[in-house]
Amino acid sequence: MVQQARQSSEAIPVTFIPSPQDKKSSHQGGKIHFRSQRGYFQRWRSGLNALLIALFLLLPFIDWQGRQAIWFDLANQQFYFFGASLWPQDFTLLAWFFIAAAFALFFVTLFWGRVWCGYLCPQTAWTFGFAWVEEKLEGSRNQRIKLDASPMSLSKASKRGGKHLLWILISLLTGCGFIAYFVPAKQLYPEIFTFSAGFLDSAWVYFFALCTYLNAGWMREQMCLHCCPYSRFQSAMFDSFTKTVTYDAQRGESRGPRKRKQATELGDCVDCNLCVEVCPTGIDIRNGLQYECINCGACVDACDQTMSKFGYRPGLISYTSEESLTGQTPPLWQRKRFIGYGAALLAILCTMGLDIYSRDPITLNVIRDRQSLYRETLDDGIENSYLLKIRNKTQQDKHYRIEISGALPYKLSTNRVHIAAGEQYELPLTLTVPVAQIDNNRSNLLFKVLEADAPDNSVSQKSVFFAP
Ligand code: SF4
Ligand code: SF4
Repeated sequence: MVQQARQSSEAIPVTFIPSPQDKKSSHQGGKIHFRSQRGYFQRWRSGLNALLIALFLLLPFIDWQGRQAIWFDLANQQFYFFGASLWPQDFTLLAWFFIAAAFALFFVTLFWGRVWCGYLCPQTAWTFGFAWVEEKLEGSRNQRIKLDASPMSLSKASKRGGKHLLWILISLLTGCGFIAYFVPAKQLYPEIFTFSAGFLDSAWVYFFALCTYLNAGWMREQMCLHCCPYSRFQSAMFDSFTKTVTYDAQRGESRGPRKRKQATELGDCVDCNLCVEVCPTGIDIRNGLQYECINCGACVDACDQTMSKFGYRPGLISYTSEESLTGQTPPLWQRKRFIGYGAALLAILCTMGLDIYSRDPITLNVIRDRQSLYRETLDDGIENSYLLKIRNKTQQDKHYRIEISGALPYKLSTNRVHIAAGEQYELPLTLTVPVAQIDNNRSNLLFKVLEADAPDNSVSQKSVFFAP
């Protein structure tokens, strides 16, 4: 058996694929200096990255009904999202939102692989932003490699200093951008940049600024390779129809350099190495699908430009699937994962819709007086006391009416209340019934709170009236 196993393992050809860490010769001292690339996919990537950064920084400056439109007000335990307010008890909605987002990501991944990583992930957006600053101050890829190797000089120190200063500034803006979702943006920015912010606000801003500076400036692809769990389990969502960045080895091999228009027996890959030089994670896509690939498409654009220079058709590296390389286009219903993720996403979105639809704009909590079950009044009545906690969950001040229904003729100490937007009101309430009309020592009743101008908006809760 052992002999048989050894023979069969010897029959399997094994190819050693170097990891980015093994490629120190192509990436100076292990540091990846990737070449900036232009082209169709890079226009999409940089456009989406810019949109993401702009939205992230500008959204906290939008006001809605007199307050910041998106605001996690931790002090008052409320989350404002434009016209909606959420309290801790509504956080199931946020949980549904994150579950739906996860399944939407799985669904998109099934079709286009890791496009999230390449086009919308904040790590990618900020890394490319930092790399852009680096290129503007330190020059092209080759100039940066030379600068790394050169001894320290005034010119090198000024370039490095300028780069780190700009990185720190961007990091500070990012830290402010993040904390501005928790502390009003118009108050936070001036306070941070005039050093007058409180200790906690400053500490959180500096903490997130430091994380941004380290992640996008220093760690870059290391975050994707070693810290991001998504890169590890993404392949579980792929099937043979998933479009990923793929090198067409049949067409490209055997690779080799040549002159333009030179007749050759070689494959279409001219071995220009551009696909490796533009790769932000430092891999060679010609070695096949690798978990390091974030699907950013830089190598696709680089290779298409080389193909065009040599008069070859584009697409030697392209977004393609295993099946389309064999020329098959299967119907969607044959893809089990498509049906699975699609059904799960639909079910979650429906549940979330129902949850939103059934949310009450008022909440009511009736608490009976725990000191005494009842009290006898001087005018031959029996009195019970309650505490009504009524929350106005809308963003407008409202008047509410309180009604009681039950078997006895209850007299209310008050039946109207005014509650400010988003506030909870604690209303002590007394119910009195003439003793002559009580025939039971325990009667069920129902408290109902109605919006005065829109009685359809109401909430009710059962309670009990005790008598001797
Ligand atoms: S860019 Fe294209 S031609 Fe150049 S090495 Fe890569 S695959 Fe070959
Ligand atoms: S292999 Fe291509 S698509 Fe993948 S990360 Fe590198 S440049 Fe981007």
